[in-house]
Amino acid sequence: TGTLYIVPTPIGNLNDITLRALEVLRMVDIIAAEDTRHSAVLLNHFGIESKLWAVHEHNERQKIEAILAQLSAGKNIALISDAGTPLISDPGYPLVNACRAAGASVIALPGACAAITALSAAGLPTDRFVFCGFLPPKQQAREKALDALAGESGTLIFYEAPRRILETLTAVVKVFGPDRPVVIAREITKQFETYLSGSAQSVLEQVSTDANQQRGEIVLLIGGVVRDGDLIPTEALQLLKRLSEELP
Ligand code: SAM
Repeated sequence: TGTLYIVPTPIGNLNDITLRALEVLRMVDIIAAEDTRHSAVLLNHFGIESKLWAVHEHNERQKIEAILAQLSAGKNIALISDAGTPLISDPGYPLVNACRAAGASVIALPGACAAITALSAAGLPTDRFVFCGFLPPKQQAREKALDALAGESGTLIFYEAPRRILETLTAVVKVFGPDRPVVIAREITKQFETYLSGSAQSVLEQVSTDANQQRGEIVLLIGGVVRDGDLIPTEALQLLKRLSEELP
């Protein structure tokens, strides 16, 4: 039987496609793409001529049977989305779930993902993080969703539309308070890539006074809650250091 390959594509800079991604996209019988016209531009750029199928949010469940049939007929299929890693705030979960349930082979290639790229450069703790995708668009539901995360100690990562970033930052200040560390990673890997960081209040002020910060693609990161109990007193650390010097 064939294999379903999950293939990440660039999030801005075309050079971020991997050699293996190109190899797999050339080799497969079918590329299942979220938007075939959008992906045709990328595939043409790299001279890839594999057959394209449209598999998006609205027809994914209907396409599953056809894809499973192709896999059991021995065809290899690659799943791509418009940008970044499929399934990460993108279509693909029902398909992968169905392939696993049917015992089909699924192989994911590592590659571009806006959330992980932003996290690695933001300067916020990376030992524990929560990827939250897009917040609900309506104000009340958005504040409720933020409120449910207010006690989380890991770094929170959100995707956000530029037209909503001011409203969301306002909600962040309201729900988490003005002092929570916030980072806005904008236009990652592209010409106008910028990272804005500071307290929630200062990032809100920076974004509201600079219209450029309300354009392009945005990852919003919020530092997790730091509980007093989590902080080890300096005296305790000094004592520990002195003790460890004495120990064999
Ligand atoms: N699957 C993609 C991934 O792996 O990152 C995410 C797809 S989601 C529909 C699109 C959102 O990802 C954008 O609205 C934005 O929040 C974020 N995003 C994608 N590319 C980005 C970039 N170059 N810079 C900043 N954020 C980006």
